[in-house]
Amino acid sequence: MSTLEAGGPALTQERKIVTAIPGPKSQELEARRKASVAAGVGSSHPTYIVAAGGGILKDIDGNQFIDLATGIGVTGVGNANPRIAQRATEQLNAFTHTCFMVNPYESYVEVAEALNRLTPGSFEKRTALFNSGAEAVENAVKIARKYTGRNAVVVFDHAYHGRTNLTMAMTAKNAPYKDGFGPFAGEVYRVPASYPYRDNEAAGTKVSGPEAAKRAITIIDKQIGAHNVAAIVIEPIQGEGGFIVPAEGFLPEVVEYARQQGIVFIADEVQSGFARTGKMFASEHEGIEPDLVTIAKGVAGGLPLSAVTGRAEIMDATHGGGLGGTYGGNPTACQAALGAIEAVEQDGLVERAVRIGEILHERFSELQGRYNQIGDVRGRGAMFAVELVQGDSTEPNPELAKAVAAHAAQNGVVALVTGTYGNVLRFLPPLVIGEDLLNEALDVLAEGFAEALS
Ligand SMILES: *Cc1c(COP(=O)(O)O)cnc(C)c1O
Repeated sequence: MSTLEAGGPALTQERKIVTAIPGPKSQELEARRKASVAAGVGSSHPTYIVAAGGGILKDIDGNQFIDLATGIGVTGVGNANPRIAQRATEQLNAFTHTCFMVNPYESYVEVAEALNRLTPGSFEKRTALFNSGAEAVENAVKIARKYTGRNAVVVFDHAYHGRTNLTMAMTAKNAPYKDGFGPFAGEVYRVPASYPYRDNEAAGTKVSGPEAAKRAITIIDKQIGAHNVAAIVIEPIQGEGGFIVPAEGFLPEVVEYARQQGIVFIADEVQSGFARTGKMFASEHEGIEPDLVTIAKGVAGGLPLSAVTGRAEIMDATHGGGLGGTYGGNPTACQAALGAIEAVEQDGLVERAVRIGEILHERFSELQGRYNQIGDVRGRGAMFAVELVQGDSTEPNPELAKAVAAHAAQNGVVALVTGTYGNVLRFLPPLVIGEDLLNEALDVLAEGFAEALS
């Protein structure tokens, strides 16, 4: 079964632009949308999709785009992956919902067993399933508070944890995520992260990982008090913040501190997890074993499913009935997750992520040699980004990021802009993308740089 069969028989693995972007049919739908969909829900690429698979998204006007976004790191196993489509279809024909809290079913247990096995740490684990990344983060905090009997939650600069009330409080960036949406949940405290590219600039020297950890720990000790802290929550590679890989040694020091102080260490691997970075979970790159891991995005190939997986004694400290939700661990989403897990393990997708990272690193390092506006080239595996600056200084250059992404969109490549300063181009290609297609997308991006900087 080839992942390239996905998206229907008409979908070829080729980039093809046959109309203006967006095309006439997309524009028509966009007009209907403006009259029917709330303005607060945006779309960075308003071309309406009718089929997708492998590395290609096909729109309603017949244009085909190379997908470097995967719906924000979700369809790593490819869109309409046959392993998922088949399992989900069978499930839909058998039964659609019972609510696991009313009548349970086997697939939920199978997903829990798989995630307990796949997450870092050989200790005894338990899993609870939810619907979205934000819901997983909220539940991880609930679980940590219940277990510790403490209230405070420590989060970091540049963090992104979601759009619900608690997770807005935990997210760093104001616009667009929080602006005007307060008041926010209390007992959330922000401390400095490790941002190697910007730490160097601000300090005029390198801030090592352990030094950055000490900077954060001092604030926890002096301004919050470790004995008040239920959880430290961190993305092992910060996603929306700009694909920031912390300096080596930062994460292990923070984990060690949490352990000494009886604080639950929660790795938010919603974006970095599930094979994306060339390991099953990004925590493995530094050998850390989080107490709890939050998992979503890539885990079910596009069906809504999330999880909290972690140490049995922490997970089991919550009273029966304290966790759950009507749809959490929906049977179709569970089947999709089982299909996605099968795809990752049997189709060698962790290795594919490593290879994609090598290609991205090579191509962008070469471009960086040509343009001093490419300030930083970073990431792990298929979670990769370039941070764009003015060139004569490290002042952020969001205009360049926007211009290159716009050139890409017009020429059939979907790429995303992100970062605290809006100056990061981030790449989350499907792990099943063909190398020729990936290289073609990178050619288009290189043209975008050449055009914008000529
Ligand atoms: C996307 C994301 C979330 C929120 O997930 P949703 O499914 O959008 O609620 C939380 N944490 C991280 C690190 C994310 O990237």
